[in-house]
Amino acid sequence: MPIPLETYERNKRLVPKGAEVVMLKDEVITFFDDGKCGFLSKITNRCKIYNERPEVCRKFGEDMRLPCPYLKPDGTKRTLLEQKLVMADMDRNIETMIEFIKKKNGN
Ligand code: SF4
Repeated sequence: MPIPLETYERNKRLVPKGAEVVMLKDEVITFFDDGKCGFLSKITNRCKIYNERPEVCRKFGEDMRLPCPYLKPDGTKRTLLEQKLVMADMDRNIETMIEFIKKKNGN
C-alpha cells in the first residue's frame, strides 16, 4: 500500500533489507518478492505500523470492498486460507482500490 512519505521516513528502520522500496511523489510503496507489504512482519504476520497505517489500510475492513489480506479489522492475523480468499476477492475489486487511491491523491 502507498504509505505517506512522512510515515515511511519515521518508520523506515522497520522495513527489512531486501524489501523493494518505490519512492513516489508524496508516498512510498514497499513490498517483498511475494507481494506482501514491507511493513508486514514476517514473524508475527502483523502490521509494524498499525497505529500509523495509512488511510487506505484503515479502510480495510470498514469498506467491505477493501478487506486487508493479512489482518482482520481487529488487527489479528488471518489464516493462510483466509488470506488467499481475501486476495482472490481483492483481484476482483482492484479497480475499486485504484479509484480510492486516485481520489485520495486528487486525480
Ligand atoms: S495494514 Fe497491511 S498493507 Fe497497510 S501498512 Fe500495515 S502491513 Fe502494510
